[in-house]
Amino acid sequence: MKRLLALLAGLLLAACAGPQAYQPTGKIEVLWLGQSAFRVTTLTGKVIVIDPWLRTNPKTPAQYKELAALGKVDVVLVTHAHFDHVADAPALAKMNNARLYSPGGLNATLVKLGEMPANLAPGMNKSGVVTPLGPEIKFTMVRAEHSSEFTWKDPATGRETVLPGGEPVGWIIELENGFTIYHMGDTGLFGDMRMIGELYRPDLILIPIGGNFTINAQKAAFATRSYLRPKFAIPMHYGTFPILAGKPEDYVKEIGGAPTKVIVPQPGEKVVF
Ligand SMILES: [Zn+2]
Repeated sequence: MKRLLALLAGLLLAACAGPQAYQPTGKIEVLWLGQSAFRVTTLTGKVIVIDPWLRTNPKTPAQYKELAALGKVDVVLVTHAHFDHVADAPALAKMNNARLYSPGGLNATLVKLGEMPANLAPGMNKSGVVTPLGPEIKFTMVRAEHSSEFTWKDPATGRETVLPGGEPVGWIIELENGFTIYHMGDTGLFGDMRMIGELYRPDLILIPIGGNFTINAQKAAFATRSYLRPKFAIPMHYGTFPILAGKPEDYVKEIGGAPTKVIVPQPGEKVVF
């Protein structure tokens, strides 16, 4: 009986602590740079940049328009091949001698074009897990519901060609202390968001709300409330162009009583966890 009680107590404790156990450290820094671009600085000072579109992004603050202003970058993640996500990724990765991870088909195209050296653009695909910064930080590629053609301008002729860019993805980023970030990329609503929520239990989601090309504020709120239930959410991919009309206040209103704190930084603002 005693052993059974101890077992039950243990199970209860495990269920409560679970993979979601989040202790604020104040040392994990998330910097939004407009649209879907983020710089994440981890507990041990590793720097991860996601979807860097900076130099021509109207929402990126002037002080971050130069790629060197990001400081040292250890890894670059890209969700798909559209310019507002991949634009500065090859240049940033090469400048830092950092690996660039993007949908397999996009990395292959970047290497074939000579935009990326093969050693910095390894191949991977959905469900793949990579640990380029050591075993404590895991990057998992997950599904996104979007498109990913790559438009490339030939510098010799000035002609634009549309090339394969793989399939669009989102990124699950598990940090040293288990703090888990889900960068959703550009995505429509899909039912497997529930599976992603159950399997990875994100503490923080970076979620598009602009509509037209992605979920809007209402559908983003539905996904947050019903499928993902993270502790924190930062809306992205809105307001850059008039067509990205979703508003963070509508997202907050629609979420209602969900146990999610929505944080709405200005581009250039840092949030710590
Ligand atoms: Zn986009």
